[in-house]
Amino acid sequence: MLLNLQDVEIAYGRIKVLWGISLCVGEGEIVSLVGANGAGKSTLIKGIMGIVPLRKGCINFLGHDISKKHPWERAKMGIAYIPEGGRVFPDLTVEDNLKLIASLCKNELNVRKRLDMIYSLFPVLKERLTQKAGTLSGGERQMLAIGRALVSKPKLLLVDEVSMGLMPKLVSSVFETLKALKDSGISMLLTEQNVSEALAISDRGYVLENGRITLSGNSEELLENEQVKTSFLGI
Ligand code: ATP
Repeated sequence: MLLNLQDVEIAYGRIKVLWGISLCVGEGEIVSLVGANGAGKSTLIKGIMGIVPLRKGCINFLGHDISKKHPWERAKMGIAYIPEGGRVFPDLTVEDNLKLIASLCKNELNVRKRLDMIYSLFPVLKERLTQKAGTLSGGERQMLAIGRALVSKPKLLLVDEVSMGLMPKLVSSVFETLKALKDSGISMLLTEQNVSEALAISDRGYVLENGRITLSGNSEELLENEQVKTSFLGI
């Protein structure tokens, strides 16, 4: 198993926001984490990246306990994080946003290959290399955020609300890109409020409610589930 969480609990100070979270992501899988605002999705993603500490429980990545590792150690092991809203450095150019991350990677030849792969995946980024990231459209910024996460050749992408603030047309194209990345062998854990789109590209999903997993299953089962239909699909 690529990622395995057991009985994870997270709190902000004295306020507990996640209880008894156990979930897994297999090699080559896309797994969705769905839930309403405030359910704890972003917190869980941050916990896996090491940005917020665990109060209890254990996170295994590729068979190693990473629960106490720093975020940069987790990144080095192959976990990349795309924060909510596709945050990039607005005052740096597209090229510098990518090269900033590339500069942390040791093998220059590999980095050049990765950048070429990213430009072929997102030709629009290549057209805008000298443009400041802050002047990109929402969709382009999201592509830059995804591109940046790919520079380090991750095994697992943690994707937090990638569709936030995007026009419906762009939402579909961002999800298609994620699907293409899965086909290239990258595994993903996605948080999404855009539940039908997310489950459509996912193998499995977990429903998070008030800090607890209340339902899990493969995507088809979840899309047919009455609770999911009423709570998230408006059916
Ligand atoms: P959304 O989709 O609205 O981003 P979410 O499911 O990602 O929601 P979280 O952002 O993880 O939910 O928030 C879970 C709970 O933790 C909320 O009650 C939120 O107010 C609280 N919370 C989040 N970040 C912090 C923080 N830094 N300090 C204190 N409480 C926080």
